[in-house]
Amino acid sequence: MKKLVLATNNQHKVQEIKQILEDMPLEVASLKDMGIDIEVEEDGETFLENSYKKAKAIYDILKFKDEKFIVMADDSGLMVDALGGAPGVYSARYSGEHGNSQKNNEKLLKELQGTPFEERKGRFVCAVVLINDDGDSIKVEEYAEGYIGEKLEGLEGFGYDPLFYVPEFHKTFAEMSSKEKNSISHRGKALEKVKKEIVKFL
Ligand code: IMP
Repeated sequence: MKKLVLATNNQHKVQEIKQILEDMPLEVASLKDMGIDIEVEEDGETFLENSYKKAKAIYDILKFKDEKFIVMADDSGLMVDALGGAPGVYSARYSGEHGNSQKNNEKLLKELQGTPFEERKGRFVCAVVLINDDGDSIKVEEYAEGYIGEKLEGLEGFGYDPLFYVPEFHKTFAEMSSKEKNSISHRGKALEKVKKEIVKFL
């Protein structure tokens, strides 16, 4: 079976991706599983740029190994209309401290203080890049639309999930089961597209 190497160290993402791709004939491996320990600087201006940079860095390590593989990288974040698209590519470090969800959520609430519900529209974006062992690549981008709530609701998920309210479900992402979230989320939808495209590489 071909190895699908995920170019991420984020265990939440690894779990979500494994669950979504569980019916594919692929052995999903994290960077840790592959013994690869690198942090790629996410300094691109777009999610796709960052995603490609991560996938290429891992591809450049794996291409010398005598093994069949596909590298998959994803870059994602939240874009809020009233904030001109912020936090955008800075989503993980919006508060200045990388990966501190509590502080990032506090900053988002502060920035939107006084903004009425109907103007708190935003979307999660997920850009996925796959690079096959022969160097061919696939790029996919998907979105999830919602509103930024006025307080944290729900305990599931990660990151901005407790603030991301989806009117059709009357819930935030953090109030949904992982199955429910995956069925409508930016990453879930992007990975459904990936599933259709990846057969080219199998
Ligand atoms: P990256 O894709 O690892 O660079 O992460 C981007 C950041 O966007 C994460 O640290 C989260 O703050 C946020 N983010 C991306 N996807 C999600 C999601 O599904 N739920 C909540 N926050 C997310």
